[in-house]
Amino acid sequence: MTTKQAPSTLQKMGLDSPMALALHLPSRYEDETELFTIEEALSQGRFGSVQTQGVVIRNQVLFRPRRQMLVTIEDETEILQLRFLNFYPSQQKQMAVGVHIRVRGEVREGFQGPEMVHPTVKAVAADAPLPMSLTPVYPASAGVSQTVIRKVVAQALRDPSLQDSLAEFLPKKLMTELLPSNDWPSLQAAITYLHQPPSNANTQALLERTDPAWRRVQFEELLAQQISLKRAHAIRRERHAPSFAKPSKDKSLEASLLKALPFKLTTAQERVWSEIGHDLEKSFPMNRLLQGDVGSGKTVVAALAAARVMDHSYQAAVMAPTEILAEQHYLKMKEWFEPLGVRIAWLSGSLKAKEKRLAQEMIESGHAQLIIGTHALIQESVSFSKLGLAVIDEQHRFGVRQRLEIQQRLGSELFYCHQLMMSATPIPRTLAMTYYADLDVSVIDELPPGRKPITTKVVKAGRRDEVIGGLQSWLSKGLQAYWVCPLIEESEVLQLQTAVESYEQLTQALPNFKVGLVHGRLKSEEKAAVMAAFKANEIQLLVATTVIEVGVDVPNAALMVIEHAERFGYAQIHQLRGRVGRGSADSVCILMYAEPLSMAAKERLQTLREVSDGFVIAERDLSLRGPGELLGAKQSGDAMLRFVDLQRDAWLIELAQQAAERLLAEHTDLVERHLERWLGSRAEFLKA
Ligand code: ADP
Ligand code: MG
Repeated sequence: MTTKQAPSTLQKMGLDSPMALALHLPSRYEDETELFTIEEALSQGRFGSVQTQGVVIRNQVLFRPRRQMLVTIEDETEILQLRFLNFYPSQQKQMAVGVHIRVRGEVREGFQGPEMVHPTVKAVAADAPLPMSLTPVYPASAGVSQTVIRKVVAQALRDPSLQDSLAEFLPKKLMTELLPSNDWPSLQAAITYLHQPPSNANTQALLERTDPAWRRVQFEELLAQQISLKRAHAIRRERHAPSFAKPSKDKSLEASLLKALPFKLTTAQERVWSEIGHDLEKSFPMNRLLQGDVGSGKTVVAALAAARVMDHSYQAAVMAPTEILAEQHYLKMKEWFEPLGVRIAWLSGSLKAKEKRLAQEMIESGHAQLIIGTHALIQESVSFSKLGLAVIDEQHRFGVRQRLEIQQRLGSELFYCHQLMMSATPIPRTLAMTYYADLDVSVIDELPPGRKPITTKVVKAGRRDEVIGGLQSWLSKGLQAYWVCPLIEESEVLQLQTAVESYEQLTQALPNFKVGLVHGRLKSEEKAAVMAAFKANEIQLLVATTVIEVGVDVPNAALMVIEHAERFGYAQIHQLRGRVGRGSADSVCILMYAEPLSMAAKERLQTLREVSDGFVIAERDLSLRGPGELLGAKQSGDAMLRFVDLQRDAWLIELAQQAAERLLAEHTDLVERHLERWLGSRAEFLKA
């Protein structure tokens, strides 16, 4: 056995202390508490695993159709055949004729009658005692067997230090006040129960993790999370950030920008701007999320915040997770701010070394007032002269590490800048209460005037010619259109190739119209030239890869065809189709799909056809993919709650929130211990 290797593998799994092992809870159980005769097993074993025993009366190795071992056992009632398709010499010995074995498995009909395929086998005497509790099956990893994990966990549960680590310190009075019908066991009892449930335990509730023992553990975990979030909130309030009062002069950038805009702010924009403006006046750092559906006009609000900061001679930075997204911000900000004399710097990973150095110098010297770019902005080599505000667009699309880096770079011991996050993905309530609890939220719940609802159609790829025919009559009416090429995640080259093919086919099929092509491989100037021609209606049909996902704004373009729509996610299609419906014409989005369609893709396309509300779409997305992806925390299992399911356990979150408030107010001594118990080194992650 691998007892020598086991400790290091266990350590890799983070199972390096009695407490860690105690919290390594089973994912399911096997019932070895019951023993059937072979006769009973032959009937019962057709509905699930059963345990039975007998003496080996035959053991043969066959070579046809392939190498396998057939073992027959017998008791006083019947005989049973066992089949092993892979086996070791040691197993041959273990099941030699005459040995008494206990086996567990399902019974199925084989070629030669009923049999168990690959049962678990133990060589024990017929009167060997049965376990009193269900046998735990642990989340494992390669290199550690269940036997080893079971052994070390059982050992850990007997470790005297656990008495202390699992000591009860939730005040009983508090718990009965919060939860009058409290039937939860103590933490220590709950943990023991989950590792070794008695044979009559409610296995359904154990598996679904709704058993009172599970509730107790989940509650503790949530409580730790709520406490640490509330503390982060309190700590932020004690930090210092420059306060930016509303300027009194008419000549302020803020006032000039408002005057120069070609539109009036919507009521929703006015409201969120006033919320953000208030935050900027405070002397502790803002931590606010600006939420609004695609096209709701978040950028201008960010621009106003930047203007306020620049009015006070501080720098503002706008950061986006992709180069394209960042570039759209750059172009928009340039359009608004350059006429007002603002000095803007652009910084991205793809800049040449010399341009990069120049930008860095501008930033460091304070010459640049407004800085726009990708996460290149937070790299070591960049130091701001006087950063007052960081705007982070689509924050959840940055990785966990990057987000942590952002937090570390933007804050220092003495000085923290204001932060404004922006997202088109609304956060469901449960998430807002857990991962985002130290975040103030502003919502733009209104689109700028004149937006038209978009009709979405779902069409088979086989009807491509029909779609092109429809496109022709559409363009003949003087309207413009987008043709979005499939996303090919594996290969950018392949994606480009498909785009070029579609471009050529459409150019041929529509000789009376000018067709343009834009993709990610074009240089910025080339891209800008194509976009400008499309905007000026010199190009009527724009074939594009997903580069047009964001920022493109051509009101006369009211039709969008998306090829291989089944390959796109909810958010992407929602973003893409937000490019149409901006003018006075009725807009249409055609989702073309290739068969066969997976169930998930089918449901996605159907939802997208029926629903246009970004919030509803985001919720469907969430229930499908789980919160990890929405949080951008996919890579970091550590950052996630281990035992809590945000959808299943929503009511527990509320309870934990109340308990956290009470503990912080009335039992500060317990708070540290509780955090240490549950989070240890993971506390850092929660700040990202
Ligand atoms: P998003 O919230 O998706 O980032 P944008 O900020 O890009 O949306 O705004 C979408 C478009 O709407 C832009 O062209 C922007 O200039 C325009 N816009 C923003 N606010 C208004 C408004 N109040 N009235 C009219 N158009 C607006
Ligand atoms: Mg935007």
